[in-house]
Amino acid sequence: MSPADPPKTTGQADAAALAGLLRVRGLQKSFGSNRVLESVDLTVGRGRVLALIGPSGSGKTTILRCLNGLELPDGGTIEVAASTTVRGASVGHTPGRGPNSAVLVTIDFAAKTTAKQLAALRDRSAMVFQHYNLFPHKTVLQNVIEGPVVVQHRPVAEVTAEALALLERVGLTDKRDSYPFELSGGQQQRVGIVRALALRPQLLLFDEPTSALDPELVGDVLRLIKELADEGWSMVIVTHELEFAREVAHEIAFVDGGTIVEHGESKQLLRNPQQERTRQFLHRLL
Ligand code: ADP
Repeated sequence: MSPADPPKTTGQADAAALAGLLRVRGLQKSFGSNRVLESVDLTVGRGRVLALIGPSGSGKTTILRCLNGLELPDGGTIEVAASTTVRGASVGHTPGRGPNSAVLVTIDFAAKTTAKQLAALRDRSAMVFQHYNLFPHKTVLQNVIEGPVVVQHRPVAEVTAEALALLERVGLTDKRDSYPFELSGGQQQRVGIVRALALRPQLLLFDEPTSALDPELVGDVLRLIKELADEGWSMVIVTHELEFAREVAHEIAFVDGGTIVEHGESKQLLRNPQQERTRQFLHRLL
């Protein structure tokens, strides 16, 4: 099935097809009178990397924030497969393997959403922000363990051990007791990524993860994201780095004017865009 194809399955079959990830239909969002998302349709498959590209102000970040409930859409639906286990300790992810889930939760944003539905949405993903968004008054280790301990109620010792292993992986063991202001932008962003991983999400959301970095620090962060993609993490990445999108993303969606104008296999979309608006955008950048 190509990414742009509409889903053909229904009911329980949907849950299997989704394999724990997200399907978005007709998503709408306004800020006051500014209609930012017109109608967004998107499916994020298991183990897939989707890059959102498009002009500044087209709605990419808003889509990302709607995917994990940081913004509440005004209309449309998001389907997530409900975990069959308890919140917190259950939110496990094994790269390359499907989560333990069988039942779909459909959140209809035109209707009243429940706290349980929003928790299901928020538990699925973790966000890596453009400006890192680390807590300035907490150390690196405290930043990483905060969410798993306070939000997911997992045991401090277990979370700390996991956090230290993740920090070692990204070469930041010696910074565990440092504060964010003592780190370079690249180091802060690697902490931001570790913090997201520590939540054991099924889906990683990256909002322009390198656009605030000095050019010489971009490579390290992109390499880490590529490693995670190669391990089978599912991701949605808002990026201006088209070369990176070509290399890392399976699919690219071109966003313009609050809709997805074109969505296809990455290399295909970059090489041979089907829509004039996509062509014009790529022409300016490539
Ligand atoms: P992109 O990521 O493609 O640059 P955004 O999703 O950040 O686009 O923004 C799309 C539009 O929504 C812009 O016009 C922006 O000003 C507006 N917008 C985004 N967030 C807010 C907000 N919290 N309040 C008001 N307007 C917002």
